[in-house]
Amino acid sequence: MDARHARYPFLAGARTAVEEAGVDLADVVATDQDVVERAVERVTRSLTDREVGPMARSTRVELLSYPVARVLVSLVDADVARRRYASAEAATAFERLTTEFDDDAEMRSVGSSALTRDALLREFDLSVAVRRVDDGYRMDVAPYLEYAASLRGEEWRLTGRALADGTVPLEAAELDRILERAIEERVAEGLPLSVPDAIASELDREVETVEETLSDLDFTRDIDTVVPELFPPCMQHLLDGIQRGDHLPHHSRFAITSFLANIGLSTEEIVDLYQVNPGFGREMTRYQTDHIRGESSPTEYTAPSCATMKAYDDCVNPDDLCDAISHPLSYYEVKLDDADDEELTDWREREATAED
Ligand code: SF4
Repeated sequence: MDARHARYPFLAGARTAVEEAGVDLADVVATDQDVVERAVERVTRSLTDREVGPMARSTRVELLSYPVARVLVSLVDADVARRRYASAEAATAFERLTTEFDDDAEMRSVGSSALTRDALLREFDLSVAVRRVDDGYRMDVAPYLEYAASLRGEEWRLTGRALADGTVPLEAAELDRILERAIEERVAEGLPLSVPDAIASELDREVETVEETLSDLDFTRDIDTVVPELFPPCMQHLLDGIQRGDHLPHHSRFAITSFLANIGLSTEEIVDLYQVNPGFGREMTRYQTDHIRGESSPTEYTAPSCATMKAYDDCVNPDDLCDAISHPLSYYEVKLDDADDEELTDWREREATAED
């Protein structure tokens, strides 16, 4: 286990080092409190600060806290925690990497060579797809699209790139952003893990700590904003159907109505949204919406999960983000979280401005 593995625990070499050291994770979580505490810090700091906190002094503690943190975040029943964790690990690694690309003195001081951009390209099988040219780099368009699809900003759109011979130009800083995405995907790979009971039971208290941090942050507070362009594909499809006047089956109508209620629309706003439907019945829609909202029934219903949506053929046009979430509300949370301020104009505000 060397310093590079502790700094960059997502590297394949770091995983091999842990395997070769014959580490038994069940034993670690049961006996090594330093590792467990650092793992909790990795996860909680990812939620509160979007980075994973300062490195532990011990290389062993720092390195082993990474697989334990992945276990921990798998035991917490929240997509948003896993996504934030992967993104924070990538952001922290990215910050360390960008200083090392220019200066490896720090790594030499701890007896390990710096991680170069070329080494990272090899790590992610990109050394053939990315080529150095006079004024930067060129990247094959297929892998570029794969990584750039989830990056925010017009500059990542293919229309703004000088495509030539199946490659796009990239400045060094842009290539680093692509590498950060590759790291994030590597960290998120396989999450949530299937955790054996023997390990899970040792981490009950730590899972509670992470869940408390999550509930203090109350990510759902963001879901009081209605931006239909950021809805998951399934809900956009259902909303389009309603507004076109399609007659939706009961399960589909329940899905979109509960989704709209869960993200903060009032009964009257949902009724207004449906009003363009020619088969619209104001009283019936109001009755159904109040029922779903728990105002005329003992239960406030939550929109169906992706698994249920799939079972009823309501999952339509899933995209890359859908692979990382298990609930349409999580999809929307992620989109709101990633959106620029100007993208976040609430549908109700737009309607009010249009009427003025
Ligand atoms: S995977 Fe989930 S969020 Fe994505 S389209 Fe299907 S049901 Fe909707």
